[in-house]
Amino acid sequence: MSNQTAEAAKLAINHNGPKRTPPRLLQVVKTECISPHMQRITLSGDAIKDFPEDRNGAHIKVFLPLAHQDKPVLPTLGPKGIIWPPKEEKPITRTYSVRKYRREKEELEVDFVLHGHDSPASGWALKAKPGDFLGIAGPGGPDPLLAPADWHIIAGDMTALPAISALLEELPEYTSGHVFIEVTDESERQPLATRSVMEIHWLYRGNLTAGRSTLQLDAIKQVDKPENIEAVSAWVAGENNAVVNIRNYLKAKYGLTRKNLYAVPYWRDGFDEEGYHEDRHKVMDEEY
Ligand SMILES: Cc1cc2nc3c(=O)[nH]c(=O)nc-3n(C[C@H](O)[C@H](O)[C@H](O)COP(=O)(O)OP(=O)(O)OC[C@H]3O[C@@H](n4cnc5c(N)ncnc54)[C@H](O)[C@@H]3O)c2cc1C
Repeated sequence: MSNQTAEAAKLAINHNGPKRTPPRLLQVVKTECISPHMQRITLSGDAIKDFPEDRNGAHIKVFLPLAHQDKPVLPTLGPKGIIWPPKEEKPITRTYSVRKYRREKEELEVDFVLHGHDSPASGWALKAKPGDFLGIAGPGGPDPLLAPADWHIIAGDMTALPAISALLEELPEYTSGHVFIEVTDESERQPLATRSVMEIHWLYRGNLTAGRSTLQLDAIKQVDKPENIEAVSAWVAGENNAVVNIRNYLKAKYGLTRKNLYAVPYWRDGFDEEGYHEDRHKVMDEEY
């Protein structure tokens, strides 16, 4: 199993040190519109108490209730691994990012892109109200999110924006490089807090579908690392085609490999998660 597949496997239920953390059943405490197509859902509950404070931007699984349920029926941990409920009760599972965990309030913020009522996660986020139930597992994914280097490239679309925002908040003052964020238009911009000297570029796709946009790759091609810099690392996430094309470019241009290049397709235009899941893992397992 490759490292990245192993990471993905950990998403299902994170190993938190030697103790495995079972899925947590949480409730919505607040829902806020961050931009026209981004909804911040704040979750809390007794089960959140030992959630780690230092994994903002990390991956989590979310377990959505089925149409006939108020609460999702969560998988449990057995001696041989995860035990899923029977098919009629099995929750719809999606992957999201920790936008922020606030230990003092015991609140977890997750930002959902709103892309339609009919998609399970987006549709749930559109309707969510205080008191609604959601299951989560994790956090998982690489730690640190961005491999240490002298100069960095970070790129992503709106699905990657929660992780990018979290990442930027953590970067030290001396971190330099470029951040490329693709959204439909200016109304989807968010204020980004960072102590770093990363240059932030907002890119506007307009009516172009995400799967056909080359905006991020085109913009990345316009920058070059400063002459005195040796070590480069990159973090790329978002729509499948954009991620794969950027990954291939960065690999060829800067010689990046799995060690210093996080390149994870978060979704694929035209495919739901069930239809895309296996292909994502093939892409992640490709040699680079
Ligand atoms: C590690 C990881 C972290 C992620 N973090 C986040 C996050 O923090 N916030 C977030 O919003 N998403 C995040 N995603 C992406 C999210 O999991 C997908 O967008 C997922 O498909 C949404 O599920 P859904 O039920 O809404 O739509 P699905 O049922 O999966 O898809 C239904 C249809 O909607 C399309 N679609 C899916 N996502 C989008 C989109 N964003 N814009 C337009 N069309 C879309 C699909 O192509 C399909 O045609 C992350 C994914 C991964 C792998």
